[in-house]
Amino acid sequence: MKTDYDVIIVGAGPTGATLSRVLAQNGLEVMVFDKRKELGEPVRCGEGLGAREVVAQGIDLPKPCISTDIHGAKVIAPDGSSIVWKDKETTGWVLERKIFDKWLMEQAVHKGARVQSYTRVIDLVKNGGKISGVSVSHADHEPYEVSAPLVISAEGMESTLARKAGIRATSTLYDVDTCYQYEMQEYDHENLIELYFGNEVAPRGYVWIFPKADKKANVGIGIGAHLETGEKEGGIRGATPKEYLDKFIESHAQLKDASKLQDFGGIISVGAPIDSFVKDNFMVVGTAARQVDPIHGGGIALSMEAGVIAANTILKAHKAKDYSASLLKEYENTWRAGPGKKVAKRLLLRKVMESTSDEDFNYIFKTITEQDLNDVMAGKFAGPVAKVVAGRPQLLGNLKALVS
Ligand SMILES: Cc1cc2nc3c(=O)[nH]c(=O)nc-3n(C[C@H](O)[C@H](O)[C@H](O)COP(=O)(O)OP(=O)(O)OC[C@H]3O[C@@H](n4cnc5c(N)ncnc54)[C@H](O)[C@@H]3O)c2cc1C
Repeated sequence: MKTDYDVIIVGAGPTGATLSRVLAQNGLEVMVFDKRKELGEPVRCGEGLGAREVVAQGIDLPKPCISTDIHGAKVIAPDGSSIVWKDKETTGWVLERKIFDKWLMEQAVHKGARVQSYTRVIDLVKNGGKISGVSVSHADHEPYEVSAPLVISAEGMESTLARKAGIRATSTLYDVDTCYQYEMQEYDHENLIELYFGNEVAPRGYVWIFPKADKKANVGIGIGAHLETGEKEGGIRGATPKEYLDKFIESHAQLKDASKLQDFGGIISVGAPIDSFVKDNFMVVGTAARQVDPIHGGGIALSMEAGVIAANTILKAHKAKDYSASLLKEYENTWRAGPGKKVAKRLLLRKVMESTSDEDFNYIFKTITEQDLNDVMAGKFAGPVAKVVAGRPQLLGNLKALVS
């Protein structure tokens, strides 16, 4: 068995699959390990994906990967008023992730990458203090070592290797949302994802309804993991995400009689990316690096985008036979100057949103238009903030962080 590669990637999610596809098609010998018995399963995701990043990568998703086309988002305020938001960001799909993840990895294998499922990476292997590979165990059998001059953590939220490489990568409770989701049926929809906000509905988070084919829907919730839930107005003291979600479903005209086909819990980052993405002979990419949208916890598109950025740097490192942190840093700088800027603005917005009361939220929703919402999500805060503050000057204290 071959135990020596150009690059070892830990994790065959969207990050690992994208990275390995681009590297393999450029001639690198790539090995991807994933601890899952079957790639893509179990699904722990709302499965929503904006089309832009996928289209930008020239990937043509086959029909089975897509459950439903999405034409926009309906954002619902605590008092039930709503804005329908249709733009490039909210146009896309609800996926069948168990098919999508596997298909994405298959594309990498077609280009020459190798993947091995049911194989856990246990630790980094070092030679003279330098990372030189990993130790892995297939099906909990005796561990063995595989070597490469570059190891990449694409492990998602469960990542452990970055810490082992010496990167400060621990998320605080404030930086994550705890989530619960049901797959439900039957649910009639208008090809819009629905996002419900409010402290009573989901403190420091939101409830989502992502429609799927055959009148199914992913109905989920994420709430701030740090919160002593119930402390804020209208909250349920000590309640779990599941209890909030059950309460929401009970009060929803269509969902209260719908069936629950599946349920699961999970956590997702809504904080800042980790301090550093690279060390000598080591990189962290995708959700493992907390490259996730802090407003909605979406990480698939950002992972795929980061995968391409990282791959471009790795190709240079491979050519130069130099995997030092100083060369690999180009990936980090490119990401922080590009998608990272958007993530930083979203983090600012999230912090402002969490200190906004339900009543102010309702007012803001009644005041802004779809175009304002587009501007806000694009990080252009000045116009919408001016409009809101003109009618409710007391909100300046809270909103000024967006424009200063
Ligand atoms: C409840 C919930 C809902 C979500 N909904 C959405 C959504 O609707 N849209 C969206 O864009 N994002 C959503 N996300 C986030 C999204 O799922 C992730 O951001 C995305 O999957 C990240 O891709 P990744 O490849 O970086 O990591 P992952 O998809 O998590 O893949 C990491 C892989 O690494 C493997 N792995 C980990 N450690 C090891 C190890 N030591 N050895 C071997 N293999 C290992 C894992 O088995 C896994 O397959 C949601 C997350 C949650 C929790």
